[in-house]
Amino acid sequence: MKSGRMTELELIVDLHLGTERQGPGSKAITLTALQLIPNSNDIKTVADLGCGTGGQTLTLAQHLNAQITAVDLFPEFLEEVNVRAQNEGVANQIGVLQKSIDDLPFKEELDLIWSEGAIYNLGFKNGIQLWKDYLKPGGYLAVSEITWITGSRPKEIQEFWTHAYPEISQAKDKIVDLEDNGYNLVGYFKLPPESWLKTYYEPLEKTIPAFLERHDHSELAQKVAQEYLDELSLYKKYSKYFSYGFYIAQKE
Ligand code: SAH
Repeated sequence: MKSGRMTELELIVDLHLGTERQGPGSKAITLTALQLIPNSNDIKTVADLGCGTGGQTLTLAQHLNAQITAVDLFPEFLEEVNVRAQNEGVANQIGVLQKSIDDLPFKEELDLIWSEGAIYNLGFKNGIQLWKDYLKPGGYLAVSEITWITGSRPKEIQEFWTHAYPEISQAKDKIVDLEDNGYNLVGYFKLPPESWLKTYYEPLEKTIPAFLERHDHSELAQKVAQEYLDELSLYKKYSKYFSYGFYIAQKE
C-alpha cells in the first residue's frame, strides 16, 4: 500500500500488522479461558471471530483437536494468520474467512465461538444474540469484553467509556445479558494489567516510530499513532477501574 493515499482505517490496520495481538490478551489468557471449558477434547468446530493477526487462533489450534475458521474483515490480517499458521505447523487446522462477524454462514453447527476484543464492534447484547444461531445447542461461547471492575469510578473515565462504548458495564450485568439470551455462565475472570501492557500496548508502542517513518510522518499517521498513545495513558491512569472480562458461557 502507498502511504499518503491511505485512509485512517487503512492506517490503523497497517499500524497493527506485524503485532502479535490487536487487543488486550495473551497466550496465557487464552489458555486460562480454554481451561474453563469442560470436555474441550470433544470440540471439533470452532470459529474465531475478529481474529486479527491470529494470536489466539494459533493457541487454540495448538491445544484443540479442532478445525478453526478465523474470521476478520481485513485480508491483510488474514494473510498474516495464514503465514503464522504455516510457521507454527497448524495450517491444516485453520481456514480463514473474510466476512463481517454479524453475517456468517454458520447454522447451529459450531462447538465453540471464540472472540477476543472484537464483540464490541457489534455491541455485546447484539453479538451474543446473533452468534447463538451459529452455535450447536450445548456449544460454548468464549468472549472478552470491556468491563468495569469496580462499583464506581472517577468522572473522567466514566465519561470517556460511556461515550466510546455505552454498553460498558460490570460483569454482573454482562452475566445477566448472557442468561437473558439463552446462555449459562461457565466461567469468568478479568484480564490483569500485564495483558494490556506487556502483550498489547508496549509492543504496539515500539512499532510507532517505524510506522510514522513508513508514512512520512503524515498528519493522519501522527493522529492515528497519537490516539493509541492517549489510550495508553488513560489506561495507565485508570487501570484500577476497567479491564477486559473474559466470559465463558454455554448455549442452552
Ligand atoms: N482477536 C484479536 C484482534 C482483536 S482487534 C486479538 O485479540 O488480538 C478486533 C478485530 O476485529 C480486528 O482485527 C478487526 O479487524 C476485527 N473486526 C472489527 N469489526 C469486524 C467485523 N464487523 N467483522 C469482522 N471483523 C471485524
